[in-house]
Amino acid sequence: MANVYFKRVVNKDYAALSDAALLLMETLIKDTGHKFKGRVPIKVHFGEKGNQTFVPPTCYLGVIDYLRENSIPSAYIETNVLYRGARTTAESHKEIAKAHGFTQLPVIIADGHLGEAFDEIQIDKEFFKSCKIGKAFSDYEQFIVMSHFKGHGAAGFGGALKQLAMGFAARGGKMAQHAGINPVVKASRCIACGLCIEKCDVNAIEMQEKAVIDHDKCVGCAGCIAVCPVGAIQSDWTGKNFKEKISEYAYAAQLGKDNIYITYLINVTPECDCMGQHMHAVAEDIGVFVSKDPVAIDAACIDILQKESGEKLFDDGRESIVHALKIGFGTDQYQLIEL
Ligand code: SF4
Ligand code: SF4
Repeated sequence: MANVYFKRVVNKDYAALSDAALLLMETLIKDTGHKFKGRVPIKVHFGEKGNQTFVPPTCYLGVIDYLRENSIPSAYIETNVLYRGARTTAESHKEIAKAHGFTQLPVIIADGHLGEAFDEIQIDKEFFKSCKIGKAFSDYEQFIVMSHFKGHGAAGFGGALKQLAMGFAARGGKMAQHAGINPVVKASRCIACGLCIEKCDVNAIEMQEKAVIDHDKCVGCAGCIAVCPVGAIQSDWTGKNFKEKISEYAYAAQLGKDNIYITYLINVTPECDCMGQHMHAVAEDIGVFVSKDPVAIDAACIDILQKESGEKLFDDGRESIVHALKIGFGTDQYQLIEL
């Protein structure tokens, strides 16, 4: 049974979200005797250029001040993305971090200039024998893993597991997880707008009468599925198990680490913060959650979101939790402690 600490904060009150994260983390530290050792980077997502719903750095200020006051050196840590965008190289990634206000700490891009720096972490699980995790993560024993609970076209809804799986993986690791995605265009729906062609980094889509995908070139990043305004592109799921692969990468990312997980259940958008566009939330804000168990904290978020919204939709993503349990990673049995 894992403890999941929770404080309700609504109305996008970022100062209150920062205070809540600190209060919950201090309570967890008191209850568990958690001790910080050495430098403790904060894993965040800086938000793609144009995205307006990522968790802003003001939500992290309480935790950052705590680390400073307790002489615990820290940094923001992130990895480069798979697709072409403002966060494709370490240099442009640092620029977007600055532009989005992440100036309180130094920034570490864990997988090198272009995602070339990684360690193979052996796990010997069902889909992966080893996982490509950004090299700089090996330099630290602990992280504070800040997650934004939200959706994704292929992964469904989630927070900590997706942050560990995609957020800690080097580009090759991200590609390995996406490899099962096989997008197909439903011609009757396609309005030939060309947005998917602009989005595709590997020029796998061309416009004939309607958009057509070359599956020999496609790397399964799911970018086209996300940008299509009319939902004309879907995965045919001949390559399956994306959600299960997420669990295995998440497992690799936290292996041997002693992390604290802080998840913000606010701005619940249907797509992730890698989308460089404005999106509307599909649920009311609920608040902040803190736990030592990334599986339990995701389970708690899905459960509360489903319960309070009455929407079955938010169960999309639970497959990652189910597979995590199958491989002996974490628990979905938790005690929700509301402060
Ligand atoms: S076709 Fe779609 S899924 Fe394939 S690489 Fe291009 S954007 Fe990504
Ligand atoms: S984004 Fe969608 S509608 Fe536009 S061309 Fe591509 S498949 Fe067709």
